Amino acid sequence: ALLLENVNKSFGEVHVLKDINLEVADREFIVFVGPSGCGKSTLLRVIAGLEDATSGRVTINGRDVTRTPPAKRGISMVFQSYALYPHLDVEGNMALGLRQAGEDRGVIAERIAAAAKMLSLEPYLKRRPAELSGGQRQRVAIGRAIVRKPDLFLFDEPLSNLDAALRMATRVEIAQLHRNLGASMIYVTHDQTEAMTLADRIVVLRDGRIEQVGSPMALYNDPANQFVAGFLGAPS
Ligand code: ATP
Ligand code: MG
Repeated sequence: ALLLENVNKSFGEVHVLKDINLEVADREFIVFVGPSGCGKSTLLRVIAGLEDATSGRVTINGRDVTRTPPAKRGISMVFQSYALYPHLDVEGNMALGLRQAGEDRGVIAERIAAAAKMLSLEPYLKRRPAELSGGQRQRVAIGRAIVRKPDLFLFDEPLSNLDAALRMATRVEIAQLHRNLGASMIYVTHDQTEAMTLADRIVVLRDGRIEQVGSPMALYNDPANQFVAGFLGAPS
């Protein structure tokens, strides 16, 4: 489980995250929605340890990780841009984090084989990112996250660069991964369908604060205000 207690983040004078309190249960699928600039990516980065919270506490499975470096938090993050290493092939991209963590060769090979199978990437293991389609790159980014066997996955708009058909197929695949891997996931999206179909609970952020948290149906049927309704109600 992940626990955020009074998390604040400022960049200089700019107060971006304001007293964020949230508990994410084991295996729970959480979706963050909110307008551009409201702090979704910053909150993911604070959870991942890519940014330090200015104040407050981040706890994972009972362990205070507020000052723990990213690689030691048991978290994998998938970025909108995929952030693959262009000079490494698919296998190398998936192996890098494991090598850095000191895993032995046998374990690395085994995990890459399993992830490649799961994501239908077996034919592409020796290709570099430039030789792949957008959808394939996106699967490599997911594969790289999976092989580390994290307790928590963070996704920052992972499908926003894909066309509509691929986005739908990949969304279904992420739901399957969630069921199979048994990890918690936090997923940022601007897409209402993704939010409604993937989430156990949706967190609506507004100007660095949590505006409302609830199941998709609860927010859809009973939004706290017009702002929340604007994100989850019927498209206008
Ligand atoms: P989008 O939907 O456009 O991705 P977001 O909700 O992910 O938006 P963030 O990227 O978290 O928004 O940014 C929140 C605010 O923090 C913005 O006003 C942004 O300009 C500011 N911000 C983010 N990173 C930094 C930084 N490194 N230095 C200064 N300000 C930053
Ligand atoms: Mg963002």
